[in-house]
Amino acid sequence: MKKIAIIGAGFAGLAIAWQLLNSSKKQIQITVFDGRGIGQGASGKAVGLLHPFTGAHAKLNAMGDDGMHATLELLRHAAQALGSPVTANQGGILRLALTQQQEDNYKKSAASHPHRLKWLAAEECQALVPGCANVPCLWIEEGMTVYAASYLKGLWKMCSERGVEFVQQKVHSLQELNHFDLTIVGAGAESGDLPELSAIPLKAVKGQVLEFAWPAGVEPLRYPLNSHVYILMSESKRTCLVGATFEKVFADDSPSVEIAKEELLHKAFALYPPLETFSLINCHAGLRAVTPQHLPLIKQISPKQWLLTGLGSKGLLYHALYAKKIVALMDF
Ligand SMILES: Cc1cc2nc3c(=O)[nH]c(=O)nc-3n(C[C@H](O)[C@H](O)[C@H](O)COP(=O)(O)OP(=O)(O)OC[C@H]3O[C@@H](n4cnc5c(N)ncnc54)[C@H](O)[C@@H]3O)c2cc1C
Repeated sequence: MKKIAIIGAGFAGLAIAWQLLNSSKKQIQITVFDGRGIGQGASGKAVGLLHPFTGAHAKLNAMGDDGMHATLELLRHAAQALGSPVTANQGGILRLALTQQQEDNYKKSAASHPHRLKWLAAEECQALVPGCANVPCLWIEEGMTVYAASYLKGLWKMCSERGVEFVQQKVHSLQELNHFDLTIVGAGAESGDLPELSAIPLKAVKGQVLEFAWPAGVEPLRYPLNSHVYILMSESKRTCLVGATFEKVFADDSPSVEIAKEELLHKAFALYPPLETFSLINCHAGLRAVTPQHLPLIKQISPKQWLLTGLGSKGLLYHALYAKKIVALMDF
């Protein structure tokens, strides 16, 4: 029996565990280590937007289709394992064009992908989400809302039912895991804190999300709205989430509500004016791991140590695909 250690129980670590269970040629026993618990890092803070047309230009993301394909497969398994949905049952995302630049970018993207994207007039947007800014939008029909907490629960269930063990423990050095036959680091923004990985080109970018109570009597948003910020319903439908900040300079990873309000509120009110009357009830924060290329990073550290990090703000799009890639490269 070969012993495998995975550091990090977020989207990356759990997807790698699942891939190994399904493609390793050896008899394996996987142990996942996480200092905070399962899904308590950035993955547990993800608001859940999933589509391959992110970024200011709304161009098809690099490997976007492969990423969607791999993620959809894992989402299906997770829902099956849980016996309940891990995504909103209605697909579709509106990227509202609040500036001329956004209008130019989104129209161009709609013209490049006429079978997948639609340019909608302001009144069509209003019909989809009453009360949103009175402007046209890019309609991404394949866009989805993933309920991160449920998805992580499902992912963990899939893994634990196949014998994966969890140990709540912070790993201070890879040396602590020398007795394992293979160690994979999926420690997100904290990967570089391990002494063996201090030289990896990785930056942490703080993301904060504001949560508002959704008033009784107001129709919940049928689809997420996205422009300079995004607004979407939470899984309970009793609150909505507004995000996210991109803070390159920050003191720590705890919520700092004043900074989040300053950065998000005016943009969110422009996107969905009724929000101005809603009550702010919470603020969530997490750290994204960002590489210079803004793409995930796979690296072999030593013959029996590997790293996957740098999922940035597209963890949902890339985690399953890169888990497949790293497992194929390890050939274990
Ligand atoms: C506010 C916010 C909103 C977001 N919204 C979206 C979204 O809508 N769509 C999307 O696609 N992406 C979104 N993201 C990005 C997404 O959350 C990340 O890309 C993804 O979660 C990264 O997954 P990961 O497994 O690499 O890292 P993490 O989820 O951070 O997992 C790493 C884990 O490793 C553990 N760990 C670290 N070091 C050690 C150690 N030494 N020993 C033991 N354990 C350790 C940590 O405790 C953590 O649980 C968002 C991010 C933030 C912060």
